[in-house]
Amino acid sequence: MKRSVTILGATGSIGTSTLDLIERAPDQFEVVALTANSDVRKLAEIARRTNARFAAVADERRLPELREALRGTNIGAGGGAAAVLEAARMPADWTMAAIVGCAGLEPVMAAVEQGGTVVLANKEPLVSAGELILEAARRHGATLLPADSEHNAIFQCFDFARPERVRRIILTASGGPFRDLSLAEMAQVTVEQAVAHPVWSMGAKISIDSATLMNKGLELIEAARLFPVPSDRIEIILHRQSVIHSLVDYVDGSMLAQLGSPDMRTPIAHTLAWPDRMETPVEPLDLAAIGRLDFAAPDPDRFPALRLARQALETGGARPAVLNAANEVAVAAFLDRRIAFLQIAAIVEQTLERYDPPAPHRIEDVIAIDREARSQAAEAMKVFVD
Ligand code: NAD
Ligand code: MG
Repeated sequence: MKRSVTILGATGSIGTSTLDLIERAPDQFEVVALTANSDVRKLAEIARRTNARFAAVADERRLPELREALRGTNIGAGGGAAAVLEAARMPADWTMAAIVGCAGLEPVMAAVEQGGTVVLANKEPLVSAGELILEAARRHGATLLPADSEHNAIFQCFDFARPERVRRIILTASGGPFRDLSLAEMAQVTVEQAVAHPVWSMGAKISIDSATLMNKGLELIEAARLFPVPSDRIEIILHRQSVIHSLVDYVDGSMLAQLGSPDMRTPIAHTLAWPDRMETPVEPLDLAAIGRLDFAAPDPDRFPALRLARQALETGGARPAVLNAANEVAVAAFLDRRIAFLQIAAIVEQTLERYDPPAPHRIEDVIAIDREARSQAAEAMKVFVD
């Protein structure tokens, strides 16, 4: 029996890695639905190649082009946010959530509600609405698996039967492209420098988050959602080689780590085969060639995003959703060359100061908080943009 799979965000970096694995085993997987934001050519090409049942483009204006590109096939086409939700709702055994940002929140919820396995690469919805997503997964019998390399590593090392025996979770961070720059140098960096990650090849938004270390801040919140460990026991360490993807420290002094080449196909394959294992084309680690592994504490002065994320996690309520929304706006503005690199964290901090709504109780609350935080962030940004 083939497993049915859906990929939300099929045209992106994670979507491409996921398709690479699935297309190597065509006898094992059948593709139900694929979605993209606007790249209909790529979406149609993937849908034809994998003989998907349905393809959805979020940008509704591109639907006629998608229909045209799928002419002569039996592949259904849809456009707009509702079509992306329709794709997420089609029954599938396994869904990869790989949309970027809080735009993935409702699709993730829709996938969770159909009760299969939902793999979370898309971390922003977990940050903004973690409890609500976990609660929905319990209610609908869905299995959530982490694809983020750090969380997948922890998942592989964590003893869920004895969480009280875990002393600490330690998230590793490569430190991003500016790990060795001074604050004065960081003030001058360009978009091109910021998206050029030293180890991982990823989409633009997460690449910028990796440069500010907001990615690690979001991952701190993500870890607190996924693993039953108090937030003050989740630590972050810089590890420039990105060979150890994270660690779990137990009360007896044992520290378990997951190692691997920095290639997202390993954690994705882990979730595809779980609880089994499958082969991948990922380069085996050559430890002798790597030679050494370095570790260092992150510098809170150069990377204020870490402090902002930890505060948001500890205060809880709506703070993580506000932090995430403001960060999405600031990162987009930096990518548009409207603000400087160090202003990203400044805008997030100012948005958190201006806007402190009550805790969300429903997904609709999160969406409203996300929307208002975006407009507050746009206001906060005016100081920097003339
Ligand atoms: P990407 O930019 O390469 O791809 C994003 C995908 O989402 C694309 O298919 C795009 O068409 C779609 N999309 C974008 N905006 C959308 C919208 N408004 N509505 C519907 N679809 C939309 O991003 P990525 O690097 O693949 O990252 C995807 C997610 O996975 C992010 O949340 C990221 O933090 C997380 N993640 C990525 C990596 C990585 O190595 N790339 C690692 C860990 C976690
Ligand atoms: Mg990660």
